[in-house]
Amino acid sequence: MPVVRQLITLAIETSCDDTSVAVLETARRNGTSQDQRAAILHFHEKVTADNARFRGVHPIVALESHNKQLAPLVAEALRNSPSPDQGSPSISIRSPSGWLEKSKPDFISVTRGPGMLSSLNTGLNTAKGLATAWQVPLVGVNHMLAHALTPRLVHALETENNERLSPEFPFLTLLVSGGHTMLVHSKALTHHAILANTMDIAIGDCIDKMARHILPVGVIEDSAEMMYGRLLEHFAFPNGPSDHRYIAPRTRAEDLSQKPSIWGWALTAPLSRTRSGSRSKDMAFSFAGLGSAIERICHRIETAMTLDERRDVAREAFRVAFEHLASRVLMALQQLKKAETADTEEMGTLVVSGGVASNRFLRTVLRSFLDIRGFAHIRLVFPPTSLCTDNAAMIAWTGTEMYKAGYETDLSCGALRKWSIDPSAEGGGILGVDGWKMK
Ligand code: AMP
Ligand code: ZN
Repeated sequence: MPVVRQLITLAIETSCDDTSVAVLETARRNGTSQDQRAAILHFHEKVTADNARFRGVHPIVALESHNKQLAPLVAEALRNSPSPDQGSPSISIRSPSGWLEKSKPDFISVTRGPGMLSSLNTGLNTAKGLATAWQVPLVGVNHMLAHALTPRLVHALETENNERLSPEFPFLTLLVSGGHTMLVHSKALTHHAILANTMDIAIGDCIDKMARHILPVGVIEDSAEMMYGRLLEHFAFPNGPSDHRYIAPRTRAEDLSQKPSIWGWALTAPLSRTRSGSRSKDMAFSFAGLGSAIERICHRIETAMTLDERRDVAREAFRVAFEHLASRVLMALQQLKKAETADTEEMGTLVVSGGVASNRFLRTVLRSFLDIRGFAHIRLVFPPTSLCTDNAAMIAWTGTEMYKAGYETDLSCGALRKWSIDPSAEGGGILGVDGWKMK
């Protein structure tokens, strides 16, 4: 059998404060090799800028970190690239032990947007330099599309070359991170509809703020953990899922009803009561009110608050935040079901990604909610957290899917601060921007 060369891409991600580089090989082989996986990650590293002194990402600190980290990471990626097949293009790499022959990437994948322009430009200019020097195509990747396609990368890394990619389109993604709270309906590679977005702050941001109020004095200071959400989960449920004891509400009225605590306070579901009336049917998320309510509860009774009460506040805060997410997922599924025709594919999968997706209570709430409300057949997929947070592997994968579909990006392209994945949004979605070239 003839050897069919693999597709290899070198990918760069610098949209925010993570500098990440990956080398991904996707199989186009036909049984000549032992390793039959659909995708192989030869190299994947990331360095996060030290923003600890600032409450959030500082653009100059991020830029300095990209400037310092990116070139050495690319050099390391090349040293870890696969050796070339006989007769296929190669590059000579200098290493401490002498010159190495490595496969020349078939194309370069790079995050083009959305993100901070200064950060994006560091990666984009390096990618253009590599593409020019090696005379290979460039693929400018949409960062949000890459988050949405991550479960397909995970499947390809774990599966045989000849299996169908999973999840197949269409699928839903709930992206819950420090910067996003979004429900996305992915219909095809370049066609994604944003069904709900946050009206104020992201859920991860809200959880981090709540953690600062709820956790007993010293817990944050004494911990090396930067993810306050993880600390709060551990505090709320020290024994893990056996502490969950959760039963999902059976009806919409139950979703919205307050559940007074034994301590005298009660939390209100977001968007259930606002000055402009109930917005409980809005396809939107809101977390600012929940954060303020927690601050009020914790400050009113701070001195007298026992550990047990703090734990109850933490559990209730998680319950209300996660049921709010579940209520919009449910509404979306109900609407999609209503709109189903003989020609539309039935929705079968909900992907939950982003840092907050690692919360095990969120998994319990979503599963129970969907089961009790008639959507037990919906499969929940949680990609590993390392691939849910910003990383270059997802850029490599998305670059590869776009490249295989025939898309390349012109070397004159610029970085994009805003770039929606939804074709109905201003800008026209993934394909609405300039710079695309069809192969
Ligand atoms: P990301 O923006 O995807 O890197 O995710 C970071 C956010 O996820 C931060 O706001 C974290 O506090 C939050 N997070 C991480 N682990 C957990 C967890 N176990 N429970 C809740 N939130 C979490
Ligand atoms: Zn991201």
